[in-house]
Amino acid sequence: MYTIRQPKKIIFGKNSCCQFSYPENTLVITSSGAISRGWIDYLKIKNYEVFDSVESNPSMNTVTKILSKFTHNYSSIIGIGGGSSLDVAKYVAFKLKKPKILIPTTFGSGSEVTRISVLKIDGKKISFHADELLADVAIVDPFFLNSASDKVIKNSAIDACAQCSEAYDSKLANTFTKFLCLKAFNILENAILSNNLSNLAYGSMLSGLGFGNSSTTLGHALSYVFSNEGYSHGHALAFTTTIAHQFNNSQFYKRFKDLVFKLDFEPIQLTQNLSEAANLIQFDRKHLDYNPKIVSNYDIVKMLQTINSQKIFP
Ligand SMILES: [Zn+2]
Repeated sequence: MYTIRQPKKIIFGKNSCCQFSYPENTLVITSSGAISRGWIDYLKIKNYEVFDSVESNPSMNTVTKILSKFTHNYSSIIGIGGGSSLDVAKYVAFKLKKPKILIPTTFGSGSEVTRISVLKIDGKKISFHADELLADVAIVDPFFLNSASDKVIKNSAIDACAQCSEAYDSKLANTFTKFLCLKAFNILENAILSNNLSNLAYGSMLSGLGFGNSSTTLGHALSYVFSNEGYSHGHALAFTTTIAHQFNNSQFYKRFKDLVFKLDFEPIQLTQNLSEAANLIQFDRKHLDYNPKIVSNYDIVKMLQTINSQKIFP
């Protein structure tokens, strides 16, 4: 038996965002640059307020700040931006018990279709999982690919690939999520290898639906200590998911590694004490309990050492 959870409505298609009838009296949550890039004008929403200071790897303090500053009785919350903006918008809407409309502008996190919000508390990333975090409407409009930088596209693409390949191997996977995850990986891999990224939005949406109904695993668990040291999510996953796939003997190991190589990521280096990092990673049971293999502290330290030695790509 399995249950599939997804937004009440998913709208996909180029320019779908500017054809949707948005409710009035909304709070728009996004990152800086959203207004200057013309995103808000593109939506053609009326009668709204904007919070446009969501940082990357956002913290729970940002949620608290929004809740204390924007006290009006809004009809709904619109989250537009990368995974960070969507994660904050989801949590704020959840706290306010308001409908949420989520619009990704980078295509990798899959946050618009998942029941997960990742926020930092005391400098550490925590992932919150609840059905109340699901969007009422997710609008996936590949239009935003036009304005994304190469760096953002590369980081998002590898995140989407990490998510669907980890989730395929997850103990929580079922035939339906495996179907979505494999399809997503094939689409994303093809897009990256052929330098034709127009399918990234579609692949990322399928990846979100797949991993959102199973779970990511060791690669994501290992990545957060690197995020804590300032690496972007995708950049960290390029290395942590590669080593995790090797550890798990994943069928995706070689294919994933080839994509990381093709996208040409700079090596990453963890400066904190590796045993302390391993202890911290072990707390992340939401990811590790569903990893196909049991992982010891010793295994984690060895994997972190391999990443630090930069010998993943000899
Ligand atoms: Zn991710």
